[in-house]
Amino acid sequence: MAQDVGGSSPLSHPLILRFLEKNKNVSMNRIVLIDESLCISCGACIEICPKKIFFIDNKTQKCNVSEEEKCDKIKGCEKICPTEAIKIKD
Ligand code: SF4
Ligand code: SF4
Repeated sequence: MAQDVGGSSPLSHPLILRFLEKNKNVSMNRIVLIDESLCISCGACIEICPKKIFFIDNKTQKCNVSEEEKCDKIKGCEKICPTEAIKIKD
């Protein structure tokens, strides 16, 4: 396994670390972005999603997504979420 000698990995770059700290509540997905700090676990996104890719995470009790590559990007979830916790990246 490669070692991060002296913190030289791109992930240890100060700008990346600052971004990760600022957005620590936002999931690391590329398409379906969920801000867990805003999610009230209402389940509306689970109901509306035609691809059935949302679920409530047992550990956090917040909404999460699996297989985001199945997303149709029509943004029904983004529109229905009462707290604007979801952003679909085009
Ligand atoms: S619709 Fe919004 S608040 Fe409700 S479970 Fe989904 S992400 Fe959370
Ligand atoms: S945009 Fe549509 S398919 Fe994608 S996560 Fe939202 S409701 Fe599901």
